[in-house]
Amino acid sequence: MNFESLNIFEPILKSLKEEGYKIPTPIQVQAIPIILKGTDLIGCAQTGTGKTAAFAVPILQLLGASKSFERKKRIRSLIVTPTRELAIQIEESFKTYGRYTGLTCTVVFGGVNQNSQTSTLRSGIDILVATPGRLLDLMNQGYISLKDIEIFVLDEADRMLDMGFIHDVRRIIASLPEKRQSLFFSATMPPEIVKLANTIVYKPVKVEVTPSASTVDIINQYVYFIDKGNKNAMLIDLLKDENIKTALVFTRTKYGAEKVTKVLKRKNISAEAIHGDKAQNARQRALSGFKAQTTRVLVATDIAARGIDVDDLEFVINYEIPNISETYVHRIGRTGRAGANGTAISFCDAGEMDYLKDIEKLITKKIQVVKDHPYPLVDFDPVKAPKQQRGNHNRPRSFTPRTPFPDRRNIRR
Ligand code: AMP
Repeated sequence: MNFESLNIFEPILKSLKEEGYKIPTPIQVQAIPIILKGTDLIGCAQTGTGKTAAFAVPILQLLGASKSFERKKRIRSLIVTPTRELAIQIEESFKTYGRYTGLTCTVVFGGVNQNSQTSTLRSGIDILVATPGRLLDLMNQGYISLKDIEIFVLDEADRMLDMGFIHDVRRIIASLPEKRQSLFFSATMPPEIVKLANTIVYKPVKVEVTPSASTVDIINQYVYFIDKGNKNAMLIDLLKDENIKTALVFTRTKYGAEKVTKVLKRKNISAEAIHGDKAQNARQRALSGFKAQTTRVLVATDIAARGIDVDDLEFVINYEIPNISETYVHRIGRTGRAGANGTAISFCDAGEMDYLKDIEKLITKKIQVVKDHPYPLVDFDPVKAPKQQRGNHNRPRSFTPRTPFPDRRNIRR
């Protein structure tokens, strides 16, 4: 499969070639033909899958093919995305892929003076990338009209909700023309996201991608069966291992991320939390510190961790087992990139055994159980527990898996 066979037209093919794109990614293979047909789409994919080109390329082609040479340009496509960083990246992508199409694109986001944004808008553009707050603000001031929108994209919808933008999003949708093409992207599809999608799209086709199974295969995966109340102690214990230079720890909730961070800091382990309630610049600071390895542990919720691309990240720790199996694959896919070593460690308490079973079904392999650790699971129902754990929990451990950690035999009772 190549871009020619997706019927991409020459001006865009030329720029893709210049970018070194040879083969379309799975989301591009699936989404581009659907979008080119004018059909609405729900895309379940996260940043890093080539999602931006999957919508930007067909949008440029559709707008380019029906380009009208009016003196005053109208905004014909709107892309709404939750953060300023994503907005800037998307605008850059449109400019790159569309450099030979003659179409123009600009970006608006908050936290900066609006003057340069409004003067670009006044000169007329075809494509607008925006964060919700600034978009509404400029609409209210009369700088932006959405009445000519032909193609609307809502990007990272789950993160949008997580960041509290739902009312803004609803207001934006209400200002769009009814007759339009809508593309809805989200990395996860919990019920509230599906509900939101249904208010936006019409007879959509759904496409979905998860990181490839080969990513999962190269990562060493371990699970520690442990009581919920011992997870903090286990984490601190693991982090005594100096081989762990940095670790990305996932928690299910924002509250959990804060709590774990506090516990680590109290033990003088440098840690920062990132989640939806943190201001953008605080997140950025935390991420830069982590990348520079001045912060050893980054504690993140799934949605806040989206788009985090850290070179040489070797350890991902699942403080809780995610209840959606694909989330596990997304999480551990943060490590072992580009042939680097990757280790994923999961803490599984009695209530999470079923989630673990689902994950093993999805990845079609058993995750290696670390039995020799200081906080073995005590509080569990042997009838409900998976076979591998049944009856083992109180016996002395004779088997030590090949883990990157020193043995810890001082079993606490
Ligand atoms: P995205 O998921 O849109 O953030 O894209 C992730 C990265 O993949 C970006 O750096 C893109 O430039 C790159 N990319 C997207 N599509 C392709 C492709 N078909 N071939 C090579 N790189 C790509």
